[in-house]
Amino acid sequence: MNPAPILIRNLYVHNLQGVDLEIPLQQLVVVSGVSGSGKSSLAFDTLFAEGQRSYIETFSLATRQLLEKFERPAVDRLENIPPTIALRQLAQTGDKSRRQYVDAQNFGSVTSIADHLKLLFLRCGSLICPTCQRKITSSSPAEVAQRLAKLPQGTRILVTMKVPEKSALKSSLDSQTAGPSRNSTKRTAPPRLPTEKAHQALIEELRQQGFRRGLFQTEAPSENFVTHEFSKDLPQHFELVAVIADRLIAGSQTIERMLESCETAMRYGAGMIGIWTQVPLPESPHFACTMDGQAWYRHEFNTRYRCEPCQRDFPKPQLAMLDDEPPPQTPENTVSASTLLQQSLRLGNVSWQNAGEQSLNQLDHLLQQARKEYLASGGFEETSNLRDRSLWEHVLQRIEWCRRLGLDHLPLSRSVSDLSGTEYRRARLIPLLSAGLVNTLYILDEPLAGLDDQTASIVLDAIQSLLKSGNSLLMVEHHPLAKKRANFVIEMGPGAGSEGGRIVYAGSSPAPTQSMPEHDQVKLLSPPKGLREPAGWIDPGPINLKNLQQFQWKLPLGLMCVVTGRHGSGKSTALIDALQPTSHGDTLPALAGHPLWMVDSSPLKGQPSQMLIGLLDLFGEVRALFGQTPEAKNRQLTARFFSLHVAQSGRCSQCKGTGQISADLTFFNEASMTCPNCHGKRYRRDALEIRYRGLNIAEALDLTVAEALTYFKGHHKLQSLLTTLSRTGLRYLRLGQTLKSLSGGERQRIKLALALGQPVENGIFICDEPTMGLHDQDAHQLMHAFQELVSIGHTVWLADIHPVALSWADWVIQLDSQTPLTSSEVLFSGPATTFRQSE
Ligand SMILES: [Zn+2]
Ligand SMILES: [Zn+2]
Repeated sequence: MNPAPILIRNLYVHNLQGVDLEIPLQQLVVVSGVSGSGKSSLAFDTLFAEGQRSYIETFSLATRQLLEKFERPAVDRLENIPPTIALRQLAQTGDKSRRQYVDAQNFGSVTSIADHLKLLFLRCGSLICPTCQRKITSSSPAEVAQRLAKLPQGTRILVTMKVPEKSALKSSLDSQTAGPSRNSTKRTAPPRLPTEKAHQALIEELRQQGFRRGLFQTEAPSENFVTHEFSKDLPQHFELVAVIADRLIAGSQTIERMLESCETAMRYGAGMIGIWTQVPLPESPHFACTMDGQAWYRHEFNTRYRCEPCQRDFPKPQLAMLDDEPPPQTPENTVSASTLLQQSLRLGNVSWQNAGEQSLNQLDHLLQQARKEYLASGGFEETSNLRDRSLWEHVLQRIEWCRRLGLDHLPLSRSVSDLSGTEYRRARLIPLLSAGLVNTLYILDEPLAGLDDQTASIVLDAIQSLLKSGNSLLMVEHHPLAKKRANFVIEMGPGAGSEGGRIVYAGSSPAPTQSMPEHDQVKLLSPPKGLREPAGWIDPGPINLKNLQQFQWKLPLGLMCVVTGRHGSGKSTALIDALQPTSHGDTLPALAGHPLWMVDSSPLKGQPSQMLIGLLDLFGEVRALFGQTPEAKNRQLTARFFSLHVAQSGRCSQCKGTGQISADLTFFNEASMTCPNCHGKRYRRDALEIRYRGLNIAEALDLTVAEALTYFKGHHKLQSLLTTLSRTGLRYLRLGQTLKSLSGGERQRIKLALALGQPVENGIFICDEPTMGLHDQDAHQLMHAFQELVSIGHTVWLADIHPVALSWADWVIQLDSQTPLTSSEVLFSGPATTFRQSE
């Protein structure tokens, strides 16, 4: 039986206009609509916010009281929302630009595989000395004491310690607290054989320190030992090999006494404890020997991580050390503790140092093998190792998800800036997919944007598999495949801003094509019928970048050219990376004499709280208009009085001109409420008394682009940029809207409008996947703006696979490689009509 659907009655959030909706759970629900129609208001600002809120209601009273100050969605009824997690497009998640944010990241950290792998290596890995390949283990004195306590009653035990070097003995006597230095990896000098005189002096010193007996060899090397008191009558040819710290009999002493003996031996013997017993200690390597004519077993425990044969100390494995970048090698060739750890920590045949370099595919193979070995060695038998088992599963499951999403050819160390856009977006899904949540509502923002049909189908399969665990899926998505596979489709619209915010269709998929009422249909722009011919050609020269080797091509001038090709064909590399201007001076970069304007997919620069009018660099004009009004002059106020960035101005002092008060709640980072002092108007009352053309400044900032065009009639600079903005389809945005409230598609179109506003002639505009995440209707509008550029003499080159982009192109260049391992080449270059016929 299906659970009760999410029930929404009379919802007013942002531009939503009294939405009534029932959304089925445990199904794939797709929300679509032109940008600005209210998709995010529904998905993120209502469902996600409310899902988070019900989760937070399980928190402490203090936290809840803080949260109660924040606005609840304006709605009559909002019911049956399960716990919710969301993945937004990166452009919308914060104030860091993608480049800044990702520089510190690699594929391993985005997928969270690296974090789990670190824990796995620490728990289940071993230290292997890189010089001699011996396994380095350490035991604490407590572990040794516990094992001694398990020996059969009456077993005789000798606890011995290494013969200290004189200087070492002295220093440990000077400072009883000085433990062995864990991080010292410098080679220590090999112990010198004591001269007879020094030997005698050492024994004398040990005697003074309270040690009574030693273990001696009469003829080295052999496994025959004798015990002897440290006395003056010690035969000359006896050589001291170990100092007896204590003599014990199993069952006669408390474990505390045993521990004390082990600790003493560890402290004086530089971390080495020798245990001699008459029966072997289980699960410890031992050497058979004779002592005083009787059979004994010798065991060695090292409380430090040390390779005795190589005289090399290793650091105790710690999480932070695996994060460290290896520092450059010093001239003396000493390595840092972190580097040594990274070189020697291994899991089966995988060393930590190399784990990040291999493809996930190879890594998976090696880890599966290591897991078998771990299993065979009894690693899972103890109940305390349940955690280890889940560590293995966490890592292997995530790799499996990567394989299903076609990412297993990548190594964990691949930096995010070297991932393609679609690889990056798929990688971000991995932590969500592998979280193992049940009965949860997943809200995803355009997970299929920019994917070709084949890849989109694979990603959608993976996402849909979440439904099996009783989860629910709600995707904001325009990809046709998503709508086709959806169980339920919500189409919002019909327009943007105040012309949107309504449910155009909500029901089972597929949505009827003529679902919109006649009068609401927005006139679709259609591509031009005639095609332009190239007015000339540009040869950028051979390209050797990423998967392009000796790549040669020519690009046509004076028209709109779309460079297309399947994912990984190198279209963005050839068009964006290879042509990226190297320096940004004061002059506009140029290509073969043509001013070059590149609109890549990086986000708009600016503070999240910056207003649209500020992004357009037009706020100064607006402030000047208010400063020049007769009323302002009367009161001796200038344009500066209307600034929101200076304290001595007319801005509201409580919210410092933002109109919002926010709280620092890490788990609810977008929490903010309208400023109670200015009620979101940003200004003090006296500033609001100044009116220009009937409106005060808060009302002017609340105008849409379309309304502002009329309001600012006669002001050339304002008019021209606002006109450009409305040409890219953004006439519904409000001047005071903040950067953080804009969708990814809206931001890119603002960037484009800024580029279109440049006074250049014969320019070349290059744009990377401009249609990504756009509704078809928005894509048409954008292509229309590009064609307008061409009609006034510019050239437009786009890297894109969207059918709408291809339908508006004059010329198409298709890239692909003949075989998976060879470089891409130009498969087709010709008029768009020829290309469409060949498809
Ligand atoms: Zn070694
Ligand atoms: Zn305020």
